[in-house]
Amino acid sequence: MGFGPSFEAETVNMQPSEVRGKKITIIGAARSGLGAARLLHANGAEVFVSDQSPAGPLTSNFLELKKLGVAFEAGGHTQRIYETDLIVISPGVPSDSPVVREAALKGIGVVSELEMASWFCTSKIVGVTGTNGKTTTVTLADSILKNAGVPSIPAGNIGTAFSSVVGEAGPETVIVLEVSSFNLDHTDSFRPAVSVLLNITPDHLNRYGGSLEKYARSKCRVFENQREGDALVYNADDAEVKERVEKGAPGGVRPVSFGIAETSDECAWVKDGMIMMRLKGRETAVVPADEIGIPGTHNLYNSMAASLAAVLAGADEGKVAGTLKSFPGVEHRLEPVREVGGVRYVNDSKATNVESVWYAVQSFDAPIVLILGGRDKGNDYAKILEPVKKTVKSIVAIGESAAKIEKFFTGAVPVRRVDTIREAVAAASDVAVPGDVVLLSPACASFDQFDNYEHRGRVFKEAVRELP
Ligand code: ADP
Repeated sequence: MGFGPSFEAETVNMQPSEVRGKKITIIGAARSGLGAARLLHANGAEVFVSDQSPAGPLTSNFLELKKLGVAFEAGGHTQRIYETDLIVISPGVPSDSPVVREAALKGIGVVSELEMASWFCTSKIVGVTGTNGKTTTVTLADSILKNAGVPSIPAGNIGTAFSSVVGEAGPETVIVLEVSSFNLDHTDSFRPAVSVLLNITPDHLNRYGGSLEKYARSKCRVFENQREGDALVYNADDAEVKERVEKGAPGGVRPVSFGIAETSDECAWVKDGMIMMRLKGRETAVVPADEIGIPGTHNLYNSMAASLAAVLAGADEGKVAGTLKSFPGVEHRLEPVREVGGVRYVNDSKATNVESVWYAVQSFDAPIVLILGGRDKGNDYAKILEPVKKTVKSIVAIGESAAKIEKFFTGAVPVRRVDTIREAVAAASDVAVPGDVVLLSPACASFDQFDNYEHRGRVFKEAVRELP
């Protein structure tokens, strides 16, 4: 038993057989909640699903619950949610939400969907977390494994809920899980065979009472239950990560680092432009860094992390290079869209914090017209001032944060303010000349004008495709 990170609801763990006949409430009826309901129902639990939002966009999920014969409610939580042996929360439910507080007061155990699904998992788990780079690293590790002939399924935050894949994946399959700090809150026994910690920088602190300490502690839960024989892949160039791993890794766990310089007995690093890997004393030259398919130093880190994780999970070292060379990247992450009149347009709509932009603006050998803005989560633009001054010739500021961006950068880089993404594409194409890159890497959330970052990226791509 342990305690949740920001509120002291008790976490528990169970054997799959103990679930039968238990009353279990699931909070949240989106992808994870539905997956959890299916899994628990199939294992004989008496499931009740509750969502605070009106049924509207979740109607098809509720229809599915109805078909299964699972009870549910929408548009608010009634007291029925507490008539239960256990509460399972979806990643969207904050640890300090009224439901979790009330459960703590009533002494009801609360676990995340990730924890619950792990009770049923017989596959080897690779658990990838960090502030940035999770989706890229999961997708890449999954591709390396598949291309090496190891059955692998990507799951978690990336798309398919963990609960939805544990039933079908056996011990021969690797599940590569994208794990956010929210999934790690309220875990008790979740234990990946290979954990990956990419980086820790301030983001989502609103969910952690503004505390970097709490957020970082959440991320470190990815390795806290690991034991003898498990491996912990971590970024030795990230001081926050390095210190926490060195102080906090459980005894017997195999630490495997990655960084630009050679850092420990087992690690990946770059030597004379070549990515190197050393595991169990065996050194391999993996691939020249400039032959990796995805651009930027951050992707060099992601590539090293994914390669180590895949090899530790069973991929042959000799099969890594081919995938690193051909990997096309993931949509909305430094995604090349089109070249018009010698100007390259790149969609990095997923860059919702300044750290991502810090890497993005240093990923091209060309002058950049940078589209910045959206809903600001308390950005400190000073963190990107120096690289922006070096690589960006002009900024187009959009959305709610346009005024703040204009105020901050004026005097350092020319800034033009517009309202919409379409106007931004037009404005950027006015100032760009052949050889330039127009980069949407907004440093902000999209919710001021869009449903999500994917929506923003799609509108950007449409506008670029319509350019004459
Ligand atoms: P996540 O799933 O953690 O949000 P993604 O792979 O979706 O990460 O990338 C999110 C954004 O962060 C993109 O803009 C991408 O270019 C940038 N990014 C990717 N990897 C890193 C990294 N290792 N460090 C900093 N930024 C990164």
